[in-house]
Amino acid sequence: MNNEYKYQEITCKSALNRIDSFLPYHYDLNIYRGCEHTCAYCFARYSHQYLEDSDFFHHIYVKENIVGELEKKLSSKTWKRDVINLGGITDSYQPVEAIYKIMPQILKLLIKYKTPAIISTKSALITRDITLLQELNQVAGIQIAFTITTLDNKLASVLESGASPIKMRLNAMKTLKEAGLTVGWHLMPIIPYITATRSNLKAIFQMAKECNVDYMITGMLNLRGSTKEYFFKFIKKEYPEYYKKIWNLYNHKEEKQCYKKQLYELLMDLEKEYHICRDYQKYVPKSKTNEQLQLF
Ligand code: SF4
Repeated sequence: MNNEYKYQEITCKSALNRIDSFLPYHYDLNIYRGCEHTCAYCFARYSHQYLEDSDFFHHIYVKENIVGELEKKLSSKTWKRDVINLGGITDSYQPVEAIYKIMPQILKLLIKYKTPAIISTKSALITRDITLLQELNQVAGIQIAFTITTLDNKLASVLESGASPIKMRLNAMKTLKEAGLTVGWHLMPIIPYITATRSNLKAIFQMAKECNVDYMITGMLNLRGSTKEYFFKFIKKEYPEYYKKIWNLYNHKEEKQCYKKQLYELLMDLEKEYHICRDYQKYVPKSKTNEQLQLF
């Protein structure tokens, strides 16, 4: 496995990307292009194609002017303190962040301009910023989620070889929860036959209950474009015993629909058994107007 990483500083024209979607937020901020977490199912690999670079997992671009660009946007009179999704494409707390330390600067700006945010991560590094996260939570609101799709550390270290070990993610989750923050669990993508087993999913729901998470969202693996090709090469190499079954599933629509239906029924049963809220929208912080802020 290639463990050499190359970091390259670039400039961005603006810190935020506007997303027109059905989601309860419309701005996305990504400090890094590329992601060291190296998830076999990564949906974001396409974003390196625009840079004509095929090494999404090892060649990381750092937007060195992003803090200045963000301040320009947040200080503008037209800024309405919309919720910002920090790292909608690549993880804001991937290992390179330990070197560049850009997230604390971003959080300080969000606090200064009372702008709410959401973050999802596979990294325990987020706990480094716990005091800033608490402060932001008080002045504007923040929702944090950890992605964990298996409690089997060996499996996770193959599927997401650059992410924090599962135990560290769980400890980070507990720490943030105990600090009074809203913490969710992203059980996605669930990989058919590999992580979609009843025993794995049941163990996850049980652990989520123990961690007292505020909500959980789930979803079966979606494969598109270059992700599909990369993922099948990975499965052939690492889990050849599942290759044919997964290939058949993703190449036969009806079979896939039937499998998905059964998986979602199982998830609904577990939801009822463990009483875990599945409505993440309930916890997305709301933007506050000037008048509302004066009441604080
Ligand atoms: S954490 Fe997200 S962006 Fe990073 S490699 Fe994994 S799926 Fe891709």
